[in-house]
Amino acid sequence: MEAIMEKLKILADSAKYDVSCSTSGVGRRNNGRIGNAHAAGICHSWSADGRCISLLKVLFTNKCAYDCEYCINRRSNDFPRASFEPDEIARLTIEFYRRNYIEGLFLSSAVEKSPDYTAERILEALRLLRYKYGFAGYIHAKIIPGVSQEILHQIGLVADRLSVNIEMPNSESLALFAPQKKPKQIFAPMRQITNTLIERNSLVGPGTMFKGKDINSPENYLGVQQISSETKSFRALSTNAGRETFAPAGQTTQMIIGAGGESDKNILTTSENLYHAFKMKRVYYSAYIPVVKSDILPDISTAPPLAREHRIYQADWLLRFYGFSVGELFNSGDENLDPDLDPKVTWALRNLDKFPIEVNKAPYEMLLRIPGVGAVSAKRIVRQRRVSAVKFDDLKKMGVVVKRAKYFITCVGRYYGERRFEPDTIKNSILQMENGLQLSMFDNNWKALEAGARQEKLSAAGVI
Ligand code: SF4
Repeated sequence: MEAIMEKLKILADSAKYDVSCSTSGVGRRNNGRIGNAHAAGICHSWSADGRCISLLKVLFTNKCAYDCEYCINRRSNDFPRASFEPDEIARLTIEFYRRNYIEGLFLSSAVEKSPDYTAERILEALRLLRYKYGFAGYIHAKIIPGVSQEILHQIGLVADRLSVNIEMPNSESLALFAPQKKPKQIFAPMRQITNTLIERNSLVGPGTMFKGKDINSPENYLGVQQISSETKSFRALSTNAGRETFAPAGQTTQMIIGAGGESDKNILTTSENLYHAFKMKRVYYSAYIPVVKSDILPDISTAPPLAREHRIYQADWLLRFYGFSVGELFNSGDENLDPDLDPKVTWALRNLDKFPIEVNKAPYEMLLRIPGVGAVSAKRIVRQRRVSAVKFDDLKKMGVVVKRAKYFITCVGRYYGERRFEPDTIKNSILQMENGLQLSMFDNNWKALEAGARQEKLSAAGVI
């Protein structure tokens, strides 16, 4: 057991840079109490029915045959290596589950020997977990680019969610930083997963057009390659397979931000294509953390671009839930998002001729475009105004961030924003408001931290 725990320590540590399930682990120890959020790489994700669940996040192996420049597990990096046996990871998962540490498993992996060799062992582990140990909980399995269609399909039949990491926002960066990974090896499994989901779970049918292009052809990033004919013929294989549900929680992917020189527009264009072509549930963005020395990567002392990652997530949200396209989020000539402002505010300031909007008359699609109005509050506005006019005082109760929205709306014909309805004035007011908010949040956090520290001291002194 000691040897397995040592492997777990190494392989959970190696998995911590993968963000394609939602959050990383926490450092809190149980100090003799019940439960342990610290036990090797617990992270959180959302299941297909929207529940937040804690997962054991771990690599199957970190013995990698590849040498991706940005990766701590790359072949040329000298650090502790380990591989699980299939039964070891299956047993660990079920034991952790029984102790109530976790509700599911996020299993990623380096490429040991070859994609198929590793994927076969992962498949064996997942089958043991499902059929020998009877585990019915959530499993997110990473698919290794280059894996064969049959193995991928079998993994999809035992896992809830699959992900193939795209890693880099364009093919040039992929060639530079991960020369052993080819775009075709990444897009072929993505396409296979999409096709199988379409056929089994009735997603949008194949051949659907987006912007006049067949979404089944992964263009743009894409642009560089065509899906192989073997992948298209996979349909016959998937139709003949067993009756289990294939990856009911769909597929996700992960992109590294700030390792190469890509612009925000480039990154988001790739995401837009992934959402349309592959019906991704989510694209996760991971601010590059320099962990290895390299001549072609940011210096080891460079801070991860977390603020940039945050703005990209906000823009991604606009693509997925608010009906925006990437083209609308950038001025002609602009390649990056405004670091100071939410991209929805930036868009509204650039399109001030469309505002102020009367909340009692605007179509739902335009309500969604008002800064400070979310999808839920837009629905509430539409519902209420069928009965009676929405008043300014109602908006806050409906979840609208009125401090931001007031510059862009009228309510029963009255405007509540600045007297000078022009971009710079509104921008300055919003920036002042948001900076003030950030300061007060910091202040509150600081007070909370102080209170926590005080609590700990009192507890250590046996006072409470
Ligand atoms: S394949 Fe590349 S990214 Fe994946 S573990 Fe190996 S070196 Fe890291």
